[in-house]
Amino acid sequence: MRVAIFGTGYVGLVTGTCLADVGHQVVCVDIDQAKVDGLNQGIIPIYEPGLEPMVKANHAATRLAFTTDAAAAIDHGQVVFIAVGTPPDEDGSADLQYVLAVARTIGRHMSVPTVVVNKSTVPVGTADKVRAAIAEELATRGADIAFDVVSNPEFLKEGDAVADCMRPDRIIIGAANEESVAVMRRLYAPFNRNHDRVVEMDVRSAELTKYAANAMLATKISFMNEIANIAERVGADVEQVRQGIGSDPRIGWHFIYPGAGYGGSCFPKDVQALARTAQQYGLEPKLLNAVEAVNDAQKGHLFALIQRHYDKGEDEGVRGKTFAVWGLAFKPNTDDMREASSRRLLAQLWEAGATVRAYDPEAMHESQRIFGERDDLVFCNSADEALQGADALVVVTEWKQFRSPDFQKLREQLKDAAVFDGRNLYEPAEVEAAGLAYYGIGRGRSL
Ligand code: NAD
Repeated sequence: MRVAIFGTGYVGLVTGTCLADVGHQVVCVDIDQAKVDGLNQGIIPIYEPGLEPMVKANHAATRLAFTTDAAAAIDHGQVVFIAVGTPPDEDGSADLQYVLAVARTIGRHMSVPTVVVNKSTVPVGTADKVRAAIAEELATRGADIAFDVVSNPEFLKEGDAVADCMRPDRIIIGAANEESVAVMRRLYAPFNRNHDRVVEMDVRSAELTKYAANAMLATKISFMNEIANIAERVGADVEQVRQGIGSDPRIGWHFIYPGAGYGGSCFPKDVQALARTAQQYGLEPKLLNAVEAVNDAQKGHLFALIQRHYDKGEDEGVRGKTFAVWGLAFKPNTDDMREASSRRLLAQLWEAGATVRAYDPEAMHESQRIFGERDDLVFCNSADEALQGADALVVVTEWKQFRSPDFQKLREQLKDAAVFDGRNLYEPAEVEAAGLAYYGIGRGRSL
């Protein structure tokens, strides 16, 4: 099938590449000329495991093209995807300006019947707005062309995006029209061979499904962070509690890790946007507000532990100290720094007069772009380099390569012999046996 995709970010680029990989003819459109030029030269703008060779192979096989020419892409596509960003507006609701700009562009250039598919995460009712924007443009030029707007939210996880896209848990198709459902089923048939993963529903339910999924996952994280904070106060170990509750199949093992708070481009903005939707309809979203508030507080927790440790000492607390920081991305296997917990931690450390020696396996470039050059930040080329001259270690992102350091060596390298483990990667007893002070999240001993 001939497919056009607007937006070559994490979602658009991965979706386009996977659709091309199963044989569809895909044209990806972006307004960012530099990104499109780079992609045409095989330069992938994001880090996503397995993506680069797939983009190159499908581009070389002429199944995957990149352009800024929206008209040509719309001309190409029987199916046109909208996969542009929906960042938070000032009040936390989703900013639809990019989605609606694409809708108007589609209306201006469409020449044959088209299925328009909204893949961006958008509030309930957006498909109606997209439909109206397209219809208005068609009316302006006196064109009468049939089209439908389908909601097909995306559930890929950054860091696993290619695998998620090639083997989706479910494919949500929200449509009012049987013909559109048939088109979408044909498009996704190569991903749907083992068993039927397609869940058909009405458009509004599909739009809400995406927010409900992210809000549920964020709720699990905030719940566990709250339990961790209780564990810390009462002298319990949340890791043991996690093992105890995860074995109940009604609870399950996934997403019950306490930590330094959730970040990324989705959970924070989607929880907020859903809360704003509820308020717009006169409903007070008590649980969503609490999920957000717990997370916001949790992002400051690691720094509170650091402060507590240093306030016990005789010198000037955190001021003048140097911290090795392992991990900057909001989670492992991505270079995405949007809403990353590291950003809050670094700001707090700097505010307190500390210096940071930072290392992340993939997010160094993005960090340099965000933080720029400053005297109190040293970008390091390896985890070991970050430790050189550091007083203490702070682990913020649970990259695999940080999981089993040589604690004896750490003890020799860190002047203040302290480890702050924002992801509970280490066994407290093992770290302490090496003569290091250990602070985890909710591990009882932290007080
Ligand atoms: P992104 O910011 O990485 O990429 C968006 C891209 O759209 C950018 O390259 C931008 O230049 C481009 N763009 C903006 N306006 C355009 C226009 N008029 N025409 C063509 N291109 C345009 O965003 P993302 O992370 O891929 O997210 C896209 C959507 O998918 C969001 O609604 C997000 O909530 C949702 N989503 C994201 C994820 C994720 O893990 N990142 C997962 C599921 C859903």
